[in-house]
Amino acid sequence: MASIFTKIIQGEIPCYKVAENDKFFAFLDINPLSIGHTLVIPKKEIDYIFDLDDELYTALMQFSKIVGKHIESVIPCKRIGILVFGLEVPHAHVHLIPINKSSDMDISKKTLKLTKEKFEQVAQKINDSYKKSL
Ligand code: 5GP
Repeated sequence: MASIFTKIIQGEIPCYKVAENDKFFAFLDINPLSIGHTLVIPKKEIDYIFDLDDELYTALMQFSKIVGKHIESVIPCKRIGILVFGLEVPHAHVHLIPINKSSDMDISKKTLKLTKEKFEQVAQKINDSYKKSL
């Protein structure tokens, strides 16, 4: 059965998209640790990130860097933290989290509740920055 993230890529489940190319897709995490918290996934559905072949793994990290730079260009923060867990959704994904202090990456803390309008506004800003660079 297709993962939730494959369904997002295919448009069967809605998301707040921030960037996409032929191999990767990036969208806002629905339970963000901070504003701009983004997930970057390969379109090829592979559960464990270390099962990606070297070429795809490297390209995923390169795309994550590109997306991270666009996030930090529009979301005020000290830098973008990177996390990989994959304990909940069996489709490899990189968390890009705008941070100002280490506790901003504490996954045990309460996540933000944002309105649809706020999600849309944040995704739009990042996506505009990404699209301008193409
Ligand atoms: P992990 O697998 O890295 O432990 O956690 C999966 C992440 O995916 C969580 O941060 C969770 O909020 C996010 N997530 C799970 N389901 C959805 C969804 O349907 N849409 C979006 N945008 N994010 C999701």
